Amino acid sequence: MMKVILFDLDNTLIDRQGAAYDMYSDMVATVFPEWDRMSVEHETAVQRLMLWDEYGSIGKDHVFGRFCRTYHLDESWEKKLTDHWVQYFGDYTRAFPESRATLEKLKGKYRLGLLTNGYPHMQRRKVELCGCEDLFEAIVVSGEHGIHKPDPAIFKIACDKMGVSPEEVIFVGDTFSTDIYGAVLSGMKTVFLHSDILHKTKLNIPVIHSIEELPDIL
Ligand SMILES: [Mg+2]
Repeated sequence: MMKVILFDLDNTLIDRQGAAYDMYSDMVATVFPEWDRMSVEHETAVQRLMLWDEYGSIGKDHVFGRFCRTYHLDESWEKKLTDHWVQYFGDYTRAFPESRATLEKLKGKYRLGLLTNGYPHMQRRKVELCGCEDLFEAIVVSGEHGIHKPDPAIFKIACDKMGVSPEEVIFVGDTFSTDIYGAVLSGMKTVFLHSDILHKTKLNIPVIHSIEELPDIL
């Protein structure tokens, strides 16, 4: 009988892609104030940043370095934008609307914990804003230990905090190479959350999720 469910945070319980989209949009507006936010130029820059960001797995110095090269910006922007991201990204956090109710439903049957990769202050801010903090018995932020998923050592820290062995844990996460890989190496059961949340736009352009939807929207 499984006793504990351990959750990833970004893109599992919080809408990290939505937050990234909003912050990149604000940053593009700062760098290129001459572009209207609803212009295709602005949106293209945001979409490029979202693509280079790879769900948050790429260092922001690389993302903004590429941005500066693509748009022929002065090199000083790279550090300025990276520092700004690290300082403020946590403030953009919002939970998926269904997260809290789902965790509450599970809470009676399972003990719940959180294991997230990232900078301490940024991840703690996200936890604070996710609206689910009180439902977790343990919250482990990799940056506070200098060990990150998929290293089994960080999964062990979470298990020790909960007082369980890995065999008693189900890990739920959206990134295979960190969440699922590390949890399997650690001896946990896993659930892979797989949804296409990368593609979003605020422009008034029809969006379809499958080619079969096309006839109906034309
Ligand atoms: Mg994640």
